[in-house]
Amino acid sequence: MPPTAQLSNAEIADRLSSLAQLLTVKGDNPYKIRAYRRAASTIRGLGESVDELVRNEADLTAYEGIGKAIAGSVREIVLEGKLGTLEKLRAEVPPEVVAINQHPRLDPKRVLRIYKKVGISSIPELRKALDSGQIEEMLGARMAQHIRQGLIESSAIVLYHAHSLVAAIQHFLLKQCNVVRAIAAGDYRRCVEVISNLDFVVETPDFLASAESFQRFGGRTPMLELTSKYATFALPSGPLLRMEPGAKQNWGVALIRHTGSKTHLSRLTRVTGSLSDLERTASFSTEEAFYKRYELQFIPPELREGLDEVHLAREGKLPTLITQEDLRGDLHMHTEASDGVDTLEQMALAGKSRHYAYVGISDHSPSLKIANGLSVERLKKQIRAIDKLNEKLSGIRLLKSAEVDILADGALDYPDEILHELDYTVCSIHSRFAMNKEQQTERILRAMDNRHFNILGHATGRLLLKRPGYEIDIERVIKQAKQNGCFFELNSSPDRLDVSAENARLIREAGILIAISTDSHSTGELATMRFGLEQARRAGLDKNSVLNTRSVSDILKLFAR
Ligand SMILES: [Zn+2]
Ligand SMILES: [Zn+2]
Repeated sequence: MPPTAQLSNAEIADRLSSLAQLLTVKGDNPYKIRAYRRAASTIRGLGESVDELVRNEADLTAYEGIGKAIAGSVREIVLEGKLGTLEKLRAEVPPEVVAINQHPRLDPKRVLRIYKKVGISSIPELRKALDSGQIEEMLGARMAQHIRQGLIESSAIVLYHAHSLVAAIQHFLLKQCNVVRAIAAGDYRRCVEVISNLDFVVETPDFLASAESFQRFGGRTPMLELTSKYATFALPSGPLLRMEPGAKQNWGVALIRHTGSKTHLSRLTRVTGSLSDLERTASFSTEEAFYKRYELQFIPPELREGLDEVHLAREGKLPTLITQEDLRGDLHMHTEASDGVDTLEQMALAGKSRHYAYVGISDHSPSLKIANGLSVERLKKQIRAIDKLNEKLSGIRLLKSAEVDILADGALDYPDEILHELDYTVCSIHSRFAMNKEQQTERILRAMDNRHFNILGHATGRLLLKRPGYEIDIERVIKQAKQNGCFFELNSSPDRLDVSAENARLIREAGILIAISTDSHSTGELATMRFGLEQARRAGLDKNSVLNTRSVSDILKLFAR
């Protein structure tokens, strides 16, 4: 029997996530599981109703991450109201797992381990154990964090997921809601790395009607509030959406009001007077016109946090923020020799097509067995291969590097003799995250004493919304780096963005150069530079404060300690 009610995109995505979760219990193919997860997240972010698409016999495989098999599952969910494989799996697994399946973000294997260790068997007991601190005490902070995120319907998403969502919302507003112009302002426009609220400013002849129409986004999007000044919605993909009208003649003021942080706005209005008054009385159709009138430099959205930017804008001293065009290379990437997928030559050519002068190959060191870290022998072979390739290549140079593990005692994971043969090193922590702040800091300080230590890779190991990272005393690490001539990395992997913009600012202020690196594991990932640049701009970095804006000969000089 086909169901009568139309399914929202969120409901369809939930079923795919549930299926992915049960497939992990069954130990099914991890690529298949990942494919279902990716499809679920694509569907959550779509503006068009997937239910309608299916009923109109649209080709779902046209959407990113939806292949033939998954398109079939989606059709089944919509037309049959259920998914056979999911029902079948639910019948096979024990009842505890069926209960866990109500929370598709939990990892059932981990939950079952907790059940055993704590002596419980249900979700309510799990919640209790979490709240009482028992899980953290018995199984550590990371496990507790996983459970917390799995149980609480988190509304936050990572910035790069917001990019496609924002595009979908914009498209829907313009095509379906009689909106003339729509801009995502707020945290999103400032490139805050985790987004819980999306703020849209819209120009429309009839705000109330436009807001009403938006309820059809993604099949069905519940409206929480509606007034003449704003409307809020619970988006299927998590964050709250707040929509506010901006008038054409005062669009500039509306954008400024809805983009800056609270502190920024309070500093700004000391110069300009109340913005809500201005929105009623003045007429600034662009932000540029507004800043000009108050004799301020244009403040890039990424800087509107309420630090020193209003002051600098008055003095005409805002930094010229870094852009892709300023970069001359990328200093952290992997090849098929460790856990990447492409060859040395493919990485080199990908760098060349981005107009870089150099790319640094930094495969993993031996103790990272899970990533197929290179033995000394294999690294030697790679060094020779790079020398040979460099003779053949034109217009791009491969630099010889390695992502060297910082071992628990602060030693580097290769003997000095081989490190000496490299152009530079990226040194990172990949193990023993549980060491405390003091130990972790000492570990890095000791590693920096090795004169082959050049760049500290992903300094805190954080994974946004997944794990908090280990604690370090950043001030002490910065001091040591300054003394020893070491550098920091801003890892552009959009789930890391490590160092954070806040820490990057401290590093810049200490006069230490930062490498904005992609940590690519394939040629395609070189494009993730975009995300590192967003955070670098938030940190106020200009060309001069970034390591990989320098020429090959300059950076090689800087690396010689
Ligand atoms: Zn790493
Ligand atoms: Zn890496």
